[in-house]
Amino acid sequence: MKTLLILIAFATGLVNCRTSTTGLGEFAISLPSARIEVREIPTHREMQAGTKVVVLGTGTPIPDAHRAGPSIAVIHKGNSYLFDAGAGAVRQATIARYLYDIPSLYPSQICCVFLSHLHSDHTLDLSELAHTLWWRRRNPLLVWGPLGISRISSAITDMIAIDADFRINGLQPVANSEGFKIQDTTIEPGIILYRDDLQVEAFLANHGDISPAYGFKIVTDDISIVISGDTAFSDLIAEKSAGVDLLFHEVISRSGLERNSPAFQRYHNSVHTTSDELARLANVARPKKLILYHGLFYGTKETTVLDEIKELYDGEVILASDLDVFTGK
Ligand SMILES: [Zn+2]
Ligand SMILES: [Zn+2]
Repeated sequence: MKTLLILIAFATGLVNCRTSTTGLGEFAISLPSARIEVREIPTHREMQAGTKVVVLGTGTPIPDAHRAGPSIAVIHKGNSYLFDAGAGAVRQATIARYLYDIPSLYPSQICCVFLSHLHSDHTLDLSELAHTLWWRRRNPLLVWGPLGISRISSAITDMIAIDADFRINGLQPVANSEGFKIQDTTIEPGIILYRDDLQVEAFLANHGDISPAYGFKIVTDDISIVISGDTAFSDLIAEKSAGVDLLFHEVISRSGLERNSPAFQRYHNSVHTTSDELARLANVARPKKLILYHGLFYGTKETTVLDEIKELYDGEVILASDLDVFTGK
């Protein structure tokens, strides 16, 4: 059934809606096998398409068979901008590239990554992304991250040095001998990118003693989006997300939290937003859609966190699954 639905979606271009794709194995066989893609510039169709948001991963540091690490892709005018690069993001981008026919999600075509903070669950696929098929990458991967990003960037460049040496100095053709290097920029709060009518603003989140940590506001000609990153309750996020089309926010289930040891409860309370706190924030911000990702459930049913918020907030709330797609409509 899912194979049929996806084939219909391909045939009719009906991807501008939320699409749940849990259980990929069923229809993965309808996706193409290894293909080399070296697109030089976006096609006319990509330039004309409205902004899409593809949720690549909704998970946390806890290994999860259904959820990759946190990563959200904003696709605008033929470019894919990734917000965080949790474990599995590159694999998910490859699947989404074919599932939704988005050429800019092919890993070596992804131009830009914004890291909310440097906890490993948000950065583990950075090396994977920078170095997958790097010898076909004409332009280096651009990465924005908090203070410390240049240390990570140079460490993963060191990690690939032997591979780079083999390929550059051997018989293998290489599109750009610098293609394996990341071009990193340290984030300061404010507008950090403006390109093709897409604006990315970084603002400080409240991730306890993990500082600095940032949230992002992305505004294009047809959508406004806030991505919380990891954060405890924050008035600034409520302010930034007032009336936005999509608010992606991390969450920890209140009842799940109570199953933790006192030490872990204290830690989580200082760095994450509980379901009741998120309902309070949503009542102030009133986003058109509140989308939960990076959910910590701690043994409760995943839908419990949704129920906990809906008890206190009457707006639209969605618990995202990996590979869900959203638009501004
Ligand atoms: Zn974190
Ligand atoms: Zn995290």
